Order: sequence, then C-alpha cells, then structure tokens
Amino acid sequence: MRVPMKVIAKASPKMGKGVFATSSIKPFEVVASVELVRQVTDSSPLCEGEKYEHQMYLPDGSVHLVAEPMCFTNHSCAPNSFLYSADRQYFVIAKQSIEVDEEVTIDYELFAIEGDTWECQCGAPSCRGLHKWDFFSLPAELIAENLPFLDPWFASVHGAKIKRLLQKA
Ligand SMILES: [Zn+2]
Repeated sequence: MRVPMKVIAKASPKMGKGVFATSSIKPFEVVASVELVRQVTDSSPLCEGEKYEHQMYLPDGSVHLVAEPMCFTNHSCAPNSFLYSADRQYFVIAKQSIEVDEEVTIDYELFAIEGDTWECQCGAPSCRGLHKWDFFSLPAELIAENLPFLDPWFASVHGAKIKRLLQKA
C-alpha cells in the first residue's frame, strides 16, 4: 500500500523548487514516502539530465536517485519534518503541525557524515551558516536535541559513536 503524498513540488522562495503541503498535517503524521529511482554506482553513474541534488546517501554507503516530488525537499536548520526509515523504506514525517501550502523541510545534517564545507542559507534564525556538514561535529546540545529525529538505520550504523557521545554526556 502506498502512503498518500501530502505534498506537491513547486517554486520555493528559498531556492529552486521545494515541496509544499497540500493539506494540513498533524505532528508525527507521515507526509510522504520517499521513492528511489535507482542506485548510482561506478558502473551506472549519473546520466545527463539526472541532477546531482536528487541523490540520497544511504547509511550503507549506497547512493540513490530520489524520485519527484521528494527530490525537491529543501534543507532547513529549523525543519518542520524529519526522515525516518523502516525496512529501508524512507518516509518524511512531520515534527510539528504544518499548514496547507507551508514548505516541508528536513535537516540534511541528520544524515550527513564528513560532508563538504558549505554555507547554509536556509534563512532560519538558528541557521548554522558556513560549516562542515557532519552530524557528529554539531554542538553537543544540537546533537542531543536531534537524537530522537535520527533515522533508525543511521542511528544503528553509527550506534557506537552515539553510545560514546552519550557516555561522555
Ligand atoms: Zn541553515
């Protein structure tokens, strides 16, 4: 059974396209499922027309192209949703109430490991700005605040690191 999609993609005031709620969404309601188009590998690399920003890096190290509309989900340092996987199927779930036509955002850093340094321009008052994208390099209080919103698969793959952080706390 497919999860109903409660979003559409359209131009975002933030950048390019974004996904926007088509109905009001309650906290912890499933917003959409994230469908993957195909795996990107050395033997089947990106083709012309397949965009870089449509890729998702899974905790097992595999890279996949994400299908529309969820490939247009923008990052926010103060997101209203989070990514969650069960049996390797990804879902976007609301963290809080989302109004009709509000942009649905997630925090990309919750599944970033040793990413590049680039400047976030999400516009949130708590925006992290220019920094290296790595969940475990975030300030301790941000890590603690976000632990409940980690993808269980990511948390399991990086469980030893999380355990050490909690033991130090
Ligand atoms: Zn930001």
